[in-house]
Amino acid sequence: MVVLTGAGISAESGVPTFRGAGGLWREHRALDLATPEAFARDPDLVWNFYAWRRELIAGCTPNAAHLSLADLATRSNLTLITQNVDGLHQAAGSTNVLELHGSLWRLRCTACRQTWADRNVPLLLPPTCPDCGSLARPDVVWFGEQLPRATLNAAKESARAAAVFACIGTSGLVEPAAGLARIAHEFGAQVVEINVERTPLSAFADRVYEGPATAMVSRWISEVVAGNLDLLDPE
Ligand code: NAD
Ligand code: ZN
Repeated sequence: MVVLTGAGISAESGVPTFRGAGGLWREHRALDLATPEAFARDPDLVWNFYAWRRELIAGCTPNAAHLSLADLATRSNLTLITQNVDGLHQAAGSTNVLELHGSLWRLRCTACRQTWADRNVPLLLPPTCPDCGSLARPDVVWFGEQLPRATLNAAKESARAAAVFACIGTSGLVEPAAGLARIAHEFGAQVVEINVERTPLSAFADRVYEGPATAMVSRWISEVVAGNLDLLDPE
């Protein structure tokens, strides 16, 4: 079983999505700040945005959907892939999460490229590399940047091998993550979508649960438990 989550699964924890309501920070569109161009133009502005997101998320807790997935992993063979950078899956107890877009809780040196964990809230700005003193950036994947290759390959491999592939709270607009559902579909997985609205994934999903993740994930899991007991044997 493979689950791909997007910003929508954290919406009910109080983490705003970029698309739709909550996609604004001050007068800026969040989508315009999560780019290498924005950071090159105005690192202080982008760091202020990320420091704000870290503070906001530090005050959020995992919701029923995150917790259900952590529990599901203890009694099934589950690969959890996320586009989220908030760390709420790990806070719910999930381990081995494939983070396609990195993490807000890791920084990366813009010069020597080393990465390190940093959970300081508030963050002293601008953060610098502990070794070489150069400017640090969030270790997240911005629009227009490459996804971490090893993580992406592991995600593709799991999509090809999946019997069930569930997309939860993702718009299906951001490639190549959106392509994972298509790979799973082409390799014969049952594709399930959970979202408050229809997306491009809905067209080929075998099952669409239209509604909020906190309610729909547990409904989906109880139907999976009922219908696919063979998938629930722990490894
Ligand atoms: P996205 O493209 O994955 O869109 C969010 C989706 O969630 C939408 O389709 C929306 O209909 C759905 N949704 C909203 N509330 C929901 C709910 N309660 N239950 C189920 N579905 C719900 O994500 P985005 O916001 O456009 O962000 C783009 C990228 O930016 C992400 O892939 C991520 O890397 C980053 N981002 C991360 C976070 C986070 O870590 N929580 C938040 C915002 C953005
Ligand atoms: Zn450095």
